[in-house]
Amino acid sequence: MLGDADLERYSRQLLVPEVDVAGQEALAAATVLVVGLGGLGCPATLYLAAAGIGTLRLADGDRVELSNLQRQVAHTEAGLGDNKAVSAARAVRAINRGVRVEVIDRHLDARSMLAAVEGVGLVLDASDRFATRYALNRVCVAAGVPLLSAAAIRMEGQLALFDTARGGPCYRCLYPDAAADDSSLACAENGVLGPVVGVLGSLQALEAIKYLVGMEQNLRDAVLMLDLRSLSLQRLALDRRRGCPDCRPQ
Ligand SMILES: [Zn+2]
Repeated sequence: MLGDADLERYSRQLLVPEVDVAGQEALAAATVLVVGLGGLGCPATLYLAAAGIGTLRLADGDRVELSNLQRQVAHTEAGLGDNKAVSAARAVRAINRGVRVEVIDRHLDARSMLAAVEGVGLVLDASDRFATRYALNRVCVAAGVPLLSAAAIRMEGQLALFDTARGGPCYRCLYPDAAADDSSLACAENGVLGPVVGVLGSLQALEAIKYLVGMEQNLRDAVLMLDLRSLSLQRLALDRRRGCPDCRPQ
């Protein structure tokens, strides 16, 4: 049930017909796991906190460094050296005390990842390691939890919703071969502009909200490619890949 303060706090999104009271209650009932509180995870988490997601489970094993502050907008100079999940949880509480925050302040291995996904309605992959992305994909396929995956580098980004429980492709269908290293994901080597991860993280939050309130999913079975240098946007249809070792389509 929404109280008077909730009706005021969320009034602008309650006015959106696809959200309304039922949608807001769905957001309040939701538990979302965010893996990676970096350039993507920060804006995604801030928007989800502001929107009134019931429980945000935040996972990151890294610490806030000076070179993060150019784009990781949930962290502050006062939080330098703090764990990123702890720092982001502080930002969530500052925005919305009505959100329950659960902190996982370490890198997830296969076992802890399984525990982290338990009881979660949606997972946001905002990590910067291929090993994490593949492991998270396998866990989400096994648990039947949809995986909303975002990535950004330099001035490009992409976004996809992998919902294998509804017959959709998985992350491994899109990227069959595990990359030998993480350099293509690493901002440290390729660089990235702050607003680029801001756009992708915001889109990730938007698609999460749309999914949770039951709006039509334009990203299901598709990947959105953004070139923010030319401001062009492409939506490519995705199929399940025969022989995919992770989702094993027949
Ligand atoms: Zn697959």
